[in-house]
Amino acid sequence: MNDNEKALDYVLGDTLPQPGRAVTVAPGIKWLRMALPFALDHVNIWLLRDETVDSQGQRVQGWTVVDCCIDKPEPRAQWQTVFVRELEGLPIIRVLVTHMHPDHVGLAHWLCARWQAPLYMSATDYYTARLGVQQAISGAGGQAAADFFASHGLTDPLALRQISQRTDYYRQLVPAVPDQFRRLMDGQSLALGQGPNRTPWHLVSGFGHAPEHIALHAPARGILIAGDMVLPRISTNVSVYDNDPESDALGLFLESIDKFKPLPADTLVLPSHGKPFKGLHTRIEQLHAHHRDRLAEVLAACRRQPQSAADVLKVLFSRALDAHQVTFAMGESIAHLNWLMHRGQVRRQRDAEGVHRFSA
Ligand SMILES: [Zn+2]
Repeated sequence: MNDNEKALDYVLGDTLPQPGRAVTVAPGIKWLRMALPFALDHVNIWLLRDETVDSQGQRVQGWTVVDCCIDKPEPRAQWQTVFVRELEGLPIIRVLVTHMHPDHVGLAHWLCARWQAPLYMSATDYYTARLGVQQAISGAGGQAAADFFASHGLTDPLALRQISQRTDYYRQLVPAVPDQFRRLMDGQSLALGQGPNRTPWHLVSGFGHAPEHIALHAPARGILIAGDMVLPRISTNVSVYDNDPESDALGLFLESIDKFKPLPADTLVLPSHGKPFKGLHTRIEQLHAHHRDRLAEVLAACRRQPQSAADVLKVLFSRALDAHQVTFAMGESIAHLNWLMHRGQVRRQRDAEGVHRFSA
């Protein structure tokens, strides 16, 4: 546990769901944890005991799934175990996806088809995901991403070649997206739950991590399904990509997490990575402090001499980065530099080699 985590309350202690099995976190809400083959090695999935009305006006009992995991044989096998052992003989009646990243949307097409269940998602993320299964999309790699990072000072030929060749990354994890969806929008309210636990869940959009991330808050239950917007242990990836090069992604992210500040202090937060916790306000402040410190370090470096985003990697990341991590790290580095640029604290100029350099 790091120092920041010590200030949070992990309400279930060290309890973790076993593969294919769930842990109940609140009445009618089960927690699943599925393995990921990345540095970030797992994703959390929530099963909400729920009911809907079918086209004949009959009530249908079942489960709403929040997020799905990537489409690989292991998570499919885990889901098969879940179907048998955790659904209490009931079907999945809706598939709700917080955002378009592969660990969240990858198996949505399979779950929706298997259970004849509708997909619920924000429009921006739905269409971005559909684009992603057809072609290399921004952020996942490809020549445009490599050129963009080169214009921000990345020179390592191996990293650049790997990034430019990673055109199939998204499709390998998200081979398909359902043909239809039901649109989730900020400020809407969705009735979810069953019996006494059926209450409105307010949808809260968030930006800077995904195009239009949707978190869900149930005021009557004191529960926030935070997705990737508020994570207890790691800071959410906030990146600038080649298709939106001027983006103030970090500004958007920090504004977005402030939307959770009016929520009660004892809200139970269900994050997509890490363990359920209380201490939402503390965590929001920790995230602000983290980025404030990083921004101060980047600004100090830009005062010493002009910096490219690649130069700033040394300031932001103490550890050595592999080619995969360099993609995320470059995106984060540009996000911090763009934040300073948009607030007039640094100026961006292109040098003789065409590389963007930021000076205070
Ligand atoms: Zn994500």
